[in-house]
Amino acid sequence: MTATIGIDIGGSSTTAIAIDHGGQIVGRHEASGVVDGGRQIVSAALFAVSALGVDHLDAVGVGVPGQVDPVTGQVRMAVNLGIGPGPLDLGAELQDALGLPVTVENDVHAAAVGAHEELRLDGEAPDTLALVSIGTGIGAGVVLHGEVLRGAHGMAGEIGHVVVDESGPVCRCGQRGCLEAVAAGPSIARAWPRGAAGSAATALFSAAAEGDAAAQKVAGRIAGHITTALIWLSATHDAEMIVLAGGVSAAGRPFLEAVHEQVERRGLASELAARRLRPEQVVLARVDDAPGALGAAVLAARLMEKRESPAASRERQ
Ligand SMILES: [Zn+2]
Repeated sequence: MTATIGIDIGGSSTTAIAIDHGGQIVGRHEASGVVDGGRQIVSAALFAVSALGVDHLDAVGVGVPGQVDPVTGQVRMAVNLGIGPGPLDLGAELQDALGLPVTVENDVHAAAVGAHEELRLDGEAPDTLALVSIGTGIGAGVVLHGEVLRGAHGMAGEIGHVVVDESGPVCRCGQRGCLEAVAAGPSIARAWPRGAAGSAATALFSAAAEGDAAAQKVAGRIAGHITTALIWLSATHDAEMIVLAGGVSAAGRPFLEAVHEQVERRGLASELAARRLRPEQVVLARVDDAPGALGAAVLAARLMEKRESPAASRERQ
């Protein structure tokens, strides 16, 4: 059986998925461990491919944070992976090492494709979907009519560094009150330092759901900032569905309910806001899924389809 592999490489873990030609998942591999610098990124990808042990592998897709040029496969500014403005030639290096076609995509863009694909396999894919990843940073990916929206520099959806509170804390990017500075994981940990390491969001939103008044105040403020971002996406792309993913979203139902409450509150104040975004349009990514790895595999499989299609071969002649 021929399969395609998608790999999602993050700063502390790597997830890989193999799909068959029908798009069904036929293998999965996860590895934890810090990935830092170009050499480690390449070896994490190669290790994942060999761990999956696919007999007939046709292509590999990779999702990584940062600014990705999907044409050249170059990656820049993947700060959590130790990549700065000098590019890592990830696509070319993997292609040489594997002797196979390789696609590279921004991880949040790949996750949006993956979330859309999961819904498509269930027969319920919306025409327009946005995925918002809220973890150490915040980013969004948009799938419009089945295609991921990249923009001129592959940076479409970089909403983490849009200012939402001009009197807010200084962000690591230098601006004051970016969405990321007031609503991402580290700022939640500062605002609610009572959770165990890495689980501040879970502690905060659970306490708020259980009726802790102090937690409700903080949770309401953070969910309110996130809701502002969801309204941007709904206003700019009229997304039918918005999927919340990333480490903060792992806080689960209490987190989703806090966001729903804020969406509802905006709707009560304005008929326009109520029509633009309804709570039921905002959903959580599935708990045990890996949309980034699945999306990377789907993008690699699509590249192969394009290469194999008669129209593409006519173009080449
Ligand atoms: Zn910023």
